[in-house]
Amino acid sequence: MSAFPSVPPGEAIAVSATMYTTYRTCPDQALARLHGDYPPDTRVSFKGNLAHRMFARHLRTGEVAAADFDQACKEEIGQGMNVKIGAVGLRPSTLRGVIAEVGELYDRFKRLSHDGFREAEVFVEVTVGDDLVLRGSVDAVFDGTCDGPLLIDWKTGALGHAQDQLAFYALLWWLESQTLPERVEAVSVSTGERYAEVPSIESVRETAEEVATMVRQLRAALAADVRLERTAGGWCRWCPILSDCAEGAAAAAVFDS
Ligand code: SF4
Repeated sequence: MSAFPSVPPGEAIAVSATMYTTYRTCPDQALARLHGDYPPDTRVSFKGNLAHRMFARHLRTGEVAAADFDQACKEEIGQGMNVKIGAVGLRPSTLRGVIAEVGELYDRFKRLSHDGFREAEVFVEVTVGDDLVLRGSVDAVFDGTCDGPLLIDWKTGALGHAQDQLAFYALLWWLESQTLPERVEAVSVSTGERYAEVPSIESVRETAEEVATMVRQLRAALAADVRLERTAGGWCRWCPILSDCAEGAAAAAVFDS
């Protein structure tokens, strides 16, 4: 398989790993993203972003000494995260708390093996035709034991349901390089849990078909100005269109109780 399945032309769409995993959870929330409705930044997402930056910094330039950790975090925040401080409502005192929590994650991260490290935050973008882009940023790429690389996604919380995200990364890698990753793996830095898959031509083809189906459905919904299927669950609590969704409100009430 070298080509992405054909999809009818339509509105230009950029499909990220987040878009795909959102669609797999609730198609209508994915459609909402195309309408410009995104979940707000939160303290948890800010902490996760900062932790990922510190992991990448460690891999690129070496261990950050404890005495330098606060300053290193502030340097990372200064490179594009400043604007989020206000959005999340952090003050200097609460920011110190976030940096301390990132420090705890960093201590765990340092204990993981980083043998075979190649590159951090590898952005992969593939253009399909004139109006479809698939893109994603792989947290880290390591040497595999055979030909293909090992793609790693760090999680700062629980491992959760990582299969769809990993499958999307394997597809992206294949489309860009025509080679399969030897393994795609999610690692929870906070709990130590791991989940790995070994991609095959068949599994990549299956993911490509699923992504193509998603694009067809999203384009059809955009063209007809209709909503898509809604599937409710715990994730509804962070959905940007929760206030307009009775199914989601009921689910959120259950998970919040
Ligand atoms: S609130 Fe839940 S069910 Fe409703 S659109 Fe959002 S994710 Fe889907």
